[in-house]
Amino acid sequence: MSHHPRKRFGQNFLHDPAVIGRMVQAIAPRPGDSVLEIGPGHGALTEPLLERLGELTAIELDRDLAPRLRERLGPALTVIEGDALDQDIAALASPADGGRLRVVGNLPYNVSTPILFHLLGAAEHIEDLHLLLQREVVDRMVAGPGSRIRGRLSVMVQYRCRVERCFNVPAGAFHPVPKVMSSFVRLTPYRALPHPAANERILQEIVTAAFGGRRKTLRNSLRRWLTGTAIESAGVDPGRRAETLEVAEFVQLANVAAGEFVAN
Ligand code: SAM
Repeated sequence: MSHHPRKRFGQNFLHDPAVIGRMVQAIAPRPGDSVLEIGPGHGALTEPLLERLGELTAIELDRDLAPRLRERLGPALTVIEGDALDQDIAALASPADGGRLRVVGNLPYNVSTPILFHLLGAAEHIEDLHLLLQREVVDRMVAGPGSRIRGRLSVMVQYRCRVERCFNVPAGAFHPVPKVMSSFVRLTPYRALPHPAANERILQEIVTAAFGGRRKTLRNSLRRWLTGTAIESAGVDPGRRAETLEVAEFVQLANVAAGEFVAN
């Protein structure tokens, strides 16, 4: 195959059949599932998924790869040529199965976080997501309260989804070999959020501000949003640091901030 991997498209192709087999097993595709693959590349994952599903839709940015995939895998595969960030994910969900998509992908590492947040913007249309990401990104996604690496990504992903690391993948499973390790992660958006925020935009702002001053106490980092007394009224000690908080506590802070916002 005379395709030179393109760095600007984050192309590191999977070639280890054992790793691909474990990924397919973790996804557990069932015939009738509507599956969307982001970045099929040469089809390392697409082909075994298609065998089990019968049909599949994929979004591929590299216009040289899309026709090759169609030729090799036939009409059962629908390839959308374009940027995953531009796609209306809700519109791709099929009403036949309640409109919920299963999303899979070995994401291009250079844009994995924007793609993830784009997908999560349509979380109510997504059954689950199985993503191969930089291990360091997955470490942050699963980091719980008290972890030094807990940050905005941890809290916003855990607000919306159950997060499970399936397994780690060594760099040698890819061509070209990336500099970093990878992890395969399963995200399952909650049908009903365990701790819904009154205003999600305010939650995002509060979480961003809280982690903006990483070494700071909440009293300092949230100064522009909440007084120490308001933080206490949310049931949170203003002397704590952001990385020690549960998702529910961020939601309590955001709800107090939303209340004050309305009151003023
Ligand atoms: N799935 C293949 C595999 O596992 O071997 C390829 C994975 S490679 C890490 C990422 C793939 O995503 C490449 O095929 C790349 O061209 C494609 N890609 C990069 N940016 C994209 C974007 N914004 N939207 C859709 N596909 C993209």
